[in-house]
Formats: sequence, structure tokens, C-alpha cells
Amino acid sequence: MRNCRQESCQAVSPAAAELAALRRLPAHQAEVHFPPACRSLVLSLAGNMRCADCDGPRPEWASVSYGILLCVQCGGRHRSYGVQSSRVKSIDMDAWSHDQILAMLEGGNDQLCRFFDRHQMTDTAMTCRRYKTKAALFYRTNLQKHVRDVGTQSKVYPGREAIRKAISRRTESSSSSSSSSALTRQSSMQTIHQQGIAAN
Ligand SMILES: [Zn+2]
Repeated sequence: MRNCRQESCQAVSPAAAELAALRRLPAHQAEVHFPPACRSLVLSLAGNMRCADCDGPRPEWASVSYGILLCVQCGGRHRSYGVQSSRVKSIDMDAWSHDQILAMLEGGNDQLCRFFDRHQMTDTAMTCRRYKTKAALFYRTNLQKHVRDVGTQSKVYPGREAIRKAISRRTESSSSSSSSSALTRQSSMQTIHQQGIAAN
């Protein structure tokens, strides 16, 4: 395969096969233990070897709402926010749907940390409050929309790099070939990365 980069071939293909198998399951069986290749891929994402909130080691809990990994203490705190603000699951003990796994593959601790950084929400004092801000709502809404788009547009999961390149190409082509605003065509993922919003 051409341009067989680190993420695109060795790690993504087995994870994509697991996701494809999960999509073929009947609805009543559509939640499974976190598949091993998907798990490895999630753990390989930037920042995912440490808790997104306290930087503690071996995060084994997740907030599906943000696609992040958390330690047990921070996972417990997220649970107290309520599922509307943060849906917490165990990587090892809970059952996961296709879209929830995709949220973990398309989210990542580093990505959320950079988002909070742009909104000046990385202070320890903000750690609890930031998940109840408009910025956090904005992030989780756009991540969910992005996951839905990836799920409907790709029969086989192509990996983060391929998805981001395709989005980039689409935006370049729409902004150069049409007078309509590129922003209106901007994907949810680009919105997460680029657009500034009110912080709280
Ligand atoms: Zn923690």
C-alpha cells in the first residue's frame, strides 16, 4: 500500500476490521468488550497513557463524551457530573458500541487538552468547572457529530490521519471552487480544532 505510514497500516487495519465486524452484529448484540486492536490504537493516541485530568498513570476509565481516558479517581468525578456532561465507561469492564469506540479513536487526551488550552482552561482550578462550560458542550457536540459523519461516510474506518487529510482536502477544494463560505462547510473536527468560542 502506498504511503504506508505508522498509523495508517499496521495499527488501523486490525482496528478497522474489528469495527466492521461490530457493525455487522444484530442490534441486540451491538455492544461488546473493547476490541483489542481498537484498544491498542486508542492507547497509542497522544496523551492517552496518562489521565486527561490529573496526568496520573494507567488511565483505565473513559469519558465517551470527550473520547478521553481517565484514572479511577477522575473517572469517579466525571460520573458525578452526570451523563449529560460526561458519560463514563470502563475500558475493561463495560460493553461498548461501534460509535462509542469510534469516539475514543477520534478523540484523545492531547486533542482535548489542546482545546482547553486554547480556551485558557488548563489551570487546576478549572479542572472540574471546565466540563460544565459552553466550550465543553461545544466540544462533545462536535465530536459526536464527527463520529456520526465518519460512521456514515466510511464503510471501513480509514484512521485519524486519513480522515483529517480528507477533511482538509474537501475544505481546500470547496473554498477554492465556490463562492459559498468555507466555514459553513467546515467539518465538526475542524470546528473543534480551529474555531474559537466563548469559554463559559
Ligand atoms: Zn486522574
